[in-house]
Amino acid sequence: MLNIVLFGPPGAGKGTQAARLVAKYDLVHLSTGDIFRANIKGETELGKLAKQYIDKGDLVPDEVTIGMLESEVDKNSNANGFIFDGFPRTTVQAEALEQFLASKNTKISVMLALDVEDDELVKRILLRAKDSGRADDADESIIRNRIEVYNKHTAVVADFYAAQNKFEKIDGVGSIDEISERLYNAIDK
Ligand code: AMP
Repeated sequence: MLNIVLFGPPGAGKGTQAARLVAKYDLVHLSTGDIFRANIKGETELGKLAKQYIDKGDLVPDEVTIGMLESEVDKNSNANGFIFDGFPRTTVQAEALEQFLASKNTKISVMLALDVEDDELVKRILLRAKDSGRADDADESIIRNRIEVYNKHTAVVADFYAAQNKFEKIDGVGSIDEISERLYNAIDK
């Protein structure tokens, strides 16, 4: 199985690039942010809970997020592999994913980390807000909080994969095609 953690701060281009990787490598795309938003739209209990955190730009609690992610993996037992987009976002999540995949006799192949500087992220997210309809994209203070949460709680997850020699930093600035090529090269090498 090819199991990729697509990593990077909010606005780094994970969603855009995940769609391309799914098509090229025939993978299942699991974006925890997308799954939460679908639950919010469907007004499920999970959605109601998640919304309280997402609207502020804070992380949804680990136990909720991990349980949700694991059930999504289980729904796709025939997958060739997965792209985990927006997960893991804490070391606790990374450890849980490791154990969960091990219980299925598989593991993460590589973490691809899109690297983009903060001011560019804010610019991109504010532009995306025009179409995304996301409350957490439209307000600069919430965007800044999301980046701060990333720097404080999520950036360290890279160390977890670096310790296993699975960390690949990818320059996230350039055209969408250029960035895709960098990702393909990192996967195929
Ligand atoms: P994203 O679409 O990845 O930018 O995620 C949007 C929001 O969903 C985040 O700001 C968090 O509030 C929440 N979220 C998504 N993934 C996770 C996760 N792995 N852990 C905790 N919260 C998450």
